[in-house]
Amino acid sequence: MPNLLPAVFFGHGNPMNALSHNAYTEAWAELGRTIPRPKAILCISAHWFVPRTGVTISTAPKTIHDFGGFPKELYAVQYPAPGDPELARRVQQLLAPVPVTLDDSWGLDHGTWSVLCHAYPQADVPVVQLSIDENKPASFHYEIGERLAPLREEGVLIAGSGNIVHNLQAYAWGDVEPYDWAVRFEQDARARILSGDDRSLVPYESLGRDAQLSIPSPDHFLPLLYVLATRQKQDAVSFPVEGVDGGSISMLAVKLG
Ligand code: ZN
Repeated sequence: MPNLLPAVFFGHGNPMNALSHNAYTEAWAELGRTIPRPKAILCISAHWFVPRTGVTISTAPKTIHDFGGFPKELYAVQYPAPGDPELARRVQQLLAPVPVTLDDSWGLDHGTWSVLCHAYPQADVPVVQLSIDENKPASFHYEIGERLAPLREEGVLIAGSGNIVHNLQAYAWGDVEPYDWAVRFEQDARARILSGDDRSLVPYESLGRDAQLSIPSPDHFLPLLYVLATRQKQDAVSFPVEGVDGGSISMLAVKLG
């Protein structure tokens, strides 16, 4: 199927990546250059974790600076990509009977723009965000991902943005070695994905101590399940970005197709 677009999970990490040029951001830029140009991007960001399923409906989604204590340059970043109300309505239709709110209050949060400002620096590809319903179990999010899969044939790039390992309490500033539990869980997740057994990541709460330390809250992990659920038989799997930041944040990206 030549027109099947890839689906990508991005590990976004520190919001300052938006202003940085490092191995992660260069790999994001390379992805933007090599993936066939999408008609639109549907982004599932860890940072829109609310008690409902919603999609952004605005034609000009605002850039949201949803963090505190960072340098003022980061608050000045704008990512003026247009929205795509037609895509938002298509998502609503695909997810029925799950109620999906057409949301005009959210815009693009840093889970989305800190990555896309490198992958699509011209901000000329329309972007719609889909929220993660914080009250629903992981299986619900996987099922939503499955229902979104047809969008890959419709020119839409499905992007998840979170971190497979995300433990801010254990985060250490500076150049530190990754924690052993972080390395083990990331390796375990990679092996499950490579062997096509990614569905076994859905009950992540039952995967033991390494998983519990890596996923102390589900927000940054769940975007991965949306992406994995869109997987098609013919998809190649690759990990175009690798690394662990601060010992406890995996920057691993997963590309399907
Ligand atoms: Zn984050």
